[in-house]
Amino acid sequence: MNTCDLLFVEDEIQTLRTDLFMARLTILELMSEPAKNALEGFSGCRSLEEVQRWERNAIEKLLSLVQTSAGERHSLLEGAQRVSCPLCKKSRQGNHGSMGFTFPRGLRRHFAGTHNSYQCPVFEATLGLCRQFFTR
Ligand SMILES: [Zn+2]
Repeated sequence: MNTCDLLFVEDEIQTLRTDLFMARLTILELMSEPAKNALEGFSGCRSLEEVQRWERNAIEKLLSLVQTSAGERHSLLEGAQRVSCPLCKKSRQGNHGSMGFTFPRGLRRHFAGTHNSYQCPVFEATLGLCRQFFTR
C-alpha cells in the first residue's frame, strides 16, 4: 500500500468515526428527557475508570427511572416484577412465555450486557459515545 492509499484509508476511517459519532448523538437526542437526564455526564469522562463509574451510575439512574414509572411495568410473575427496557423498548421473552426483564436484576444485565444477555443497543450507543469522547 503506497502513501496515497494510506492517506485515503486514514481519511475514510476518520469520516466513518465522525459518522458513527453523529449517529450515536442522534440516538441520544431521540431519547426521552428523563432518559437523557439519567445519561448526562457521558462527555466528561477522562479515563477508563471514569467511564466505568459513569456506566455504573447511569445504569442505577435508569433503574430508578423505571422504578418511578408505573407505565413500564408488565406484571408480577413469581414475585419478580417484569419491565420493558425504557431505552430500546425491547421486552425479552422469558423461559415461561413471560415478557420483560426481571426488575431490577434482568434489566441491569440488559444495560450492562453481562451474564450472556443481549446488551441494550441504545445504552451501548451512549456508552460508545462516552468512550469516543474519552479517546478523542
Ligand atoms: Zn434496551
